[in-house]
Amino acid sequence: IDTIWQNDPDVARILASEARRQRDGLELIASENYVSRAVLEAQGSVLTNKYAEGYPGNRYYGGCEFVDEVENLARDRARELFGAAYANVQPHSGTQANMAVYFTFLKPGDTVLGMNLSHGGHLTHGSPVNFSGQLYRFVAYGVDPHTEMIDYEEVEAIARRENPRMITVGASAYSRAIDFSRFRQIADAVGAYLFADIAHPAGLIAKGLLPSPVPYAHVTTTTTHKTLRGPRGGLIILGEDFENPFGQKAAKSGRTLMMSELLDKAVVPGMQGGPLMHAVSAKAVGFRENLQPAFADYAAQIIRNAQALAGALLARGYHIISGGTDNHLMLVDLRSKSKSITGKAAQETLDRAHITLNKNSVPFDDKSPLITSGVRIGTPAITTRGMGVAEMERIAGLIDQVLSNIEDEATIKRVGEEVKALCAAFPVPGADGYDQD
Ligand code: PLP
Repeated sequence: IDTIWQNDPDVARILASEARRQRDGLELIASENYVSRAVLEAQGSVLTNKYAEGYPGNRYYGGCEFVDEVENLARDRARELFGAAYANVQPHSGTQANMAVYFTFLKPGDTVLGMNLSHGGHLTHGSPVNFSGQLYRFVAYGVDPHTEMIDYEEVEAIARRENPRMITVGASAYSRAIDFSRFRQIADAVGAYLFADIAHPAGLIAKGLLPSPVPYAHVTTTTTHKTLRGPRGGLIILGEDFENPFGQKAAKSGRTLMMSELLDKAVVPGMQGGPLMHAVSAKAVGFRENLQPAFADYAAQIIRNAQALAGALLARGYHIISGGTDNHLMLVDLRSKSKSITGKAAQETLDRAHITLNKNSVPFDDKSPLITSGVRIGTPAITTRGMGVAEMERIAGLIDQVLSNIEDEATIKRVGEEVKALCAAFPVPGADGYDQD
């Protein structure tokens, strides 16, 4: 027995259903994307069989000559992509990458500035339910209530008041370009380290469509599966390597260790065991795709689509936080349209019409994070399918029909059929071949 349909029909049926869901629905979750067949092949390969604790040329296991080769390729490609001196491609996720950074730069109890979660920040930027908020003293900065954009003056004032060891910059739901050089000035003014988490816009930054933090931040992390369109995973990069300022020396020679060495140690053996070499190989494939000129066209189209979708929603009376978008996503404040639609209700009703997105707090939200007043919408996945500006106008209309008739089953059903018809014209890479022969 060797195919999954013969070996485990229960799981095979689930995979086929999910492939169908991905094909038939509009994926507007800003953190999701569709990887290529090549990325899927590497991810689902024999490399999952291999233990390789350590790093290329320095492993705890034998038989690592080929996984060494692929990890070196992944690291070289990541460095080329971001103009970085150092890359660690082993973090299992964005959260693991951030954990390695905090473990390297901070001690428990240190003060860290991070973006307010309800203004777009991420769990790992100090949420009390996350290790970051439990181990460190996070102080939040946020957006200006009028512009709904990061208030750099406020960031500076908080930094001067709190004297943080580190400033974390980056977000999961912020639609504007970030001025990383300004953040570095603020960090320097208070003697803090600057840590940029570009998990969301990394693919756009890699192609020069948004400013890069790599020349400014002491350390940068990203996930590899959002706008970068690779396998699920994390990446740590240093624009420039430098001697660690914490006095950490090599045991034998007494040489001062470089930051790259401390970060490597923080990942393995600090907090992970064997790397997922299948994922590392899929990251290598993804990074090669990112380096191609076609990926620049894709990244530019993501932004054109996001701006077209935001414009079409604005035209229908929806408030887009900050008035628009510079990147791949937008936050919609539903209160502008109707006092009674919550983010939760919008998400659940749109799901029934095969439009998938997530409820999201908006800045200064008066509802709980489980209910919310907003939704987050992103264009990376639908752009991968080949949809363009014309489809964005159509999608805004479909969203508006559902949200304007949230109790009307007939509308929800009709929009669902229209969504299926639209999706049929735009195939999802790699989502075929799951059905039983
Ligand atoms: N950082 C930011 C800004 C994110 O948006 C995310 C994921 O949503 C992460 C880190 C964590 O990534 P992961 O889900 O791979 O742990």
